[in-house]
Amino acid sequence: MTAATVKQTLAGWGRYPQVASQVARPDRYAEVAAWAREASLARGMGRAYGDAAISAGGTTVLMTRLNRFISFDADSGLLRAEAGVTLDEILQVVMAQGWFLPVTPGTRYVTLGGAIAADVHGKNHHHVGSFSAFVQSFELFTPAGALTCSASENVEAFNATVGGMGMTGLIGEVTLQLKRIQSGNMLVQHLPAPDLATALALMDSPEHDDEYTVAWIDCLAGGKHLGRSVFMRGHHAEGPLTAGPGPARLKLPVNLPTLALNRYSVKAFNAFYYRWEGRKQKSFHCDIAPFFYPLDGIRDWNRLYGKPGFVQYQFLLPPETAAAGLKSVLERLAKSGNASFLAVLKRFGPGGSGLMSFPAPGYTLALDLPLRHDTLALLDTLDAVVLEHGGRVYLAKDARLAASNLVRMYPQLDEWRRIRATLDPDRLFVSALGQRLEMC
Ligand SMILES: Cc1cc2nc3c(=O)[nH]c(=O)nc-3n(C[C@H](O)[C@H](O)[C@H](O)COP(=O)(O)OP(=O)(O)OC[C@H]3O[C@@H](n4cnc5c(N)ncnc54)[C@H](O)[C@@H]3O)c2cc1C
Repeated sequence: MTAATVKQTLAGWGRYPQVASQVARPDRYAEVAAWAREASLARGMGRAYGDAAISAGGTTVLMTRLNRFISFDADSGLLRAEAGVTLDEILQVVMAQGWFLPVTPGTRYVTLGGAIAADVHGKNHHHVGSFSAFVQSFELFTPAGALTCSASENVEAFNATVGGMGMTGLIGEVTLQLKRIQSGNMLVQHLPAPDLATALALMDSPEHDDEYTVAWIDCLAGGKHLGRSVFMRGHHAEGPLTAGPGPARLKLPVNLPTLALNRYSVKAFNAFYYRWEGRKQKSFHCDIAPFFYPLDGIRDWNRLYGKPGFVQYQFLLPPETAAAGLKSVLERLAKSGNASFLAVLKRFGPGGSGLMSFPAPGYTLALDLPLRHDTLALLDTLDAVVLEHGGRVYLAKDARLAASNLVRMYPQLDEWRRIRATLDPDRLFVSALGQRLEMC
């Protein structure tokens, strides 16, 4: 018998859309199998931006109380834990012992289950691939029963679940290979790139390559400054080992007025940031937290976008078309007057085995856009540019893509559907995203 459920309004990190939901919050691992027979979606920390962690009906199972560590071998770096353990909780245990996450997204407040379901990537994708490359195995609870999935066992279920956005069942215990570090320090360098071509050249150049690379783009700069960026690179340095990152020191207590983030405030910020950050051309040391998780320093920073919320538009373009496609997107964005406070460019290496995983060779740009009356229409035009250039949109960030575009972006969608149907023939596991995109 499963525990009681409560009514709760759920949203993603962008706070759009918001959906009245039926929510369960099991705290014993033994309950997971029962929930897999009647639930319709797992939810971790709700850091997916759009509607990926909202169920289309039925019960949403909050996994965050299933957060027990099962074992950690400090010699091999092999960790086994329940899927509700967050990356932050892992760092608190392993960093002082000389271990780190092999791949980490830009926030540490995501669960192991969420990291697998979105097959998350970090600033080192061009060297090591995405999260699933380090997942040795996980338990998958489906309506038909439990499976152990890995690259050699129940391989189809593994490949459909990594990047499968929760729609193959509930991920239970996870075994993850961590990465050795010598210290809690990073050696970092910031270089200004006056335009897009320079930013892409820096990302491509073996001379400027590093373990981690990323570029912040001033997406309001136009004309000859289009794509003006600060290129950032870094690697783990030598030095003393440290404890995991501390908690956020600041908190945004209320929603900001909708007008606070506008074209003018963002333009002023961008001009300042480009000069300030671009000036640090000498290498410098910094802690893990500001390098990997700059936004985690402010709790509830998503309130910055006011009551209507915001959308993140993250897309990928293949290497051959990236320069032209990025130029076209940035031009349209600048012309629309929509101001993205945050615009982050990363380089991807080869994709992994996940049938619906986002990463593939090329470049990815993530834009945070406040929800205005014209934002969704603008994003439809950007979808057309992305498709024209052979790219795709990241489902973990999406709240509004049209179903007709999904199949053109994810060529393995039909294969994923076939495998998913064997795991969940009665279509119990469907998110609002899956329903909108007609995935199941
Ligand atoms: C500030 C910020 C920065 C980010 N940076 C990056 C980045 O650099 N790279 C990147 O790839 N992503 C990034 N993300 C996105 C984030 O990493 C993913 O959306 C991740 O899936 C969120 O994990 P979560 O635990 O919050 O899961 P949720 O948001 O709660 O759920 C996400 C998906 O995972 C599924 N899921 C969760 N738990 C389970 C489970 N136990 N079993 C089955 N399915 C499950 C849900 O059904 C849903 O489909 C960022 C998000 C934020 C807010």
